[in-house]
Amino acid sequence: MRVDLVPIGEVSPAVKREASAVLRSVYDAEVSMAPDQDLPSRAYDSGRDQYHAEEFIETAADVAPGEKAIALTPVDLYYRRRNYVFGLAYLDGRSCVVSTNRLGTSTDGGFSKRTAEEVFTDRLRKEVIHEAGHMLGLDHCDNNRCAMSFSPTVKEVDRKEETLCGSCQRELF
Ligand SMILES: [Zn+2]
Ligand SMILES: [Zn+2]
Repeated sequence: MRVDLVPIGEVSPAVKREASAVLRSVYDAEVSMAPDQDLPSRAYDSGRDQYHAEEFIETAADVAPGEKAIALTPVDLYYRRRNYVFGLAYLDGRSCVVSTNRLGTSTDGGFSKRTAEEVFTDRLRKEVIHEAGHMLGLDHCDNNRCAMSFSPTVKEVDRKEETLCGSCQRELF
């Protein structure tokens, strides 16, 4: 599979690098980096001080010529009744989005033995696997160690592993 990563807003080189690496290792994807995009002002809700997630999915699809596209953004996203989302994908869609906004350690206690940077990177990798999995047709998984398990807060993200479980893998490959 060919995947274009589409940075929207100011995405750090480390985030771009980690997202590419995990797509290569888990999905054996051929990854290219699209040029940085401006934040979609129409997606901004000033009352919430958040951006609506769906516009990021559209931007990624518009910008990227490839088979699949993943938007990466540092801003806080919301979707429907959810107060915030780490990302959003449509099942079998052509594009999805991952936000790094709430993946830092400031949002919870974190794991004491690991650096804030390690915890953040770990969560980022899991969320990229998760949204890419939806885009490839995977639904939520009941195995709470699997990257496809539903993770509304960082607590569930931290419990997951940076891989797909056996049954999710069998569905894909
Ligand atoms: Zn999900
Ligand atoms: Zn699974």
